[in-house]
Amino acid sequence: MKIEKKLKKLGIEEKQELTKEEKESVAQKVTDLLVESFKILEQDKNEIQNKLNQAPMFYAKIQKNISNVNYIYENSKIYFSEDINLNQITDTIIHEFIHYLQDLRKRNGKLKRIGLCNFNELSIKGLGMNEAAVQYISSKAIKRQQSLVKKYNLVLKTISPSYYPIMTNLIEQIVALLGENELVKAVIKNEQDFSNLFFNTFEGNAQSIINNFDNIIQLNNEIKNDKKQEEIVSLYIETQDIIMKTYFEKMLKLIDTVEDVDNLSKKLNKFMQITGKVEINGYMHNNCEIFKSYMTNKLDKKMISLYKEKSKTALAIVYTGRLNKIIQKIKSYFRV
Ligand SMILES: [Zn+2]
Repeated sequence: MKIEKKLKKLGIEEKQELTKEEKESVAQKVTDLLVESFKILEQDKNEIQNKLNQAPMFYAKIQKNISNVNYIYENSKIYFSEDINLNQITDTIIHEFIHYLQDLRKRNGKLKRIGLCNFNELSIKGLGMNEAAVQYISSKAIKRQQSLVKKYNLVLKTISPSYYPIMTNLIEQIVALLGENELVKAVIKNEQDFSNLFFNTFEGNAQSIINNFDNIIQLNNEIKNDKKQEEIVSLYIETQDIIMKTYFEKMLKLIDTVEDVDNLSKKLNKFMQITGKVEINGYMHNNCEIFKSYMTNKLDKKMISLYKEKSKTALAIVYTGRLNKIIQKIKSYFRV
């Protein structure tokens, strides 16, 4: 689609370009907020700011039913609604600036990757997960706190209550397990570490998680009836289930000290705080509870067996100590 046609379809009418001062001021505010919330970006501060300073930014007449800031991939321009207050940096502004930062092209100008989303000849994979990760970072950058959200018949905690709350909650679950540094570097700087960490952790289930995010975003865009809502809810529950079971089953096999068990059970409890519940006939159901009891049981058993082993080794040390003393004593008899 030609760019003029696309803009018309979206309801964006380009007006004057922002002045150099206006651009630099908004770019600096966005950079500062990102670096304040994500220390891992500190070393890239100048690079981020310089890149954003150069972004083509325009005022535009924008239809009320779409966002007041839009990054358009076809012409790499950021459009701000004419009545926007650029002193007040919102998560929407940061969100679109991140899309500008993560735009990675092939030599022929075609999109290669945007953060967690990969483009190839046949398909686009990871669009949903990237969108959720960008929103997570944007919400955290404006220091919004988690709040309880009710969406369809789901009740969950998220830092993005009004924009993609369900997908952002799933990203928050992943962050609780894998940490956020790699995610931030992947989303903002197109680095590959997160992808490796994600695939190594979730292995055979990694692709299902990515696909479920893509399906949720797809359903979100075409939502018209209750059936689609039900589909989103069951996709959410399924994804939460895969994330939890794959991660904790895998980690259970890898832990071998008392500290490891302790850390993993803390992680399990922390994870449970972010899991979503389904409301059925006024009652709240959390599908993760059963797995949590199962895992807690496993962790308790592991802890007991590690303590037993530890006391055996402790005993062995005492014996060796005694044995040494006896040997020293015997040696002393033969001293000249
Ligand atoms: Zn987006």
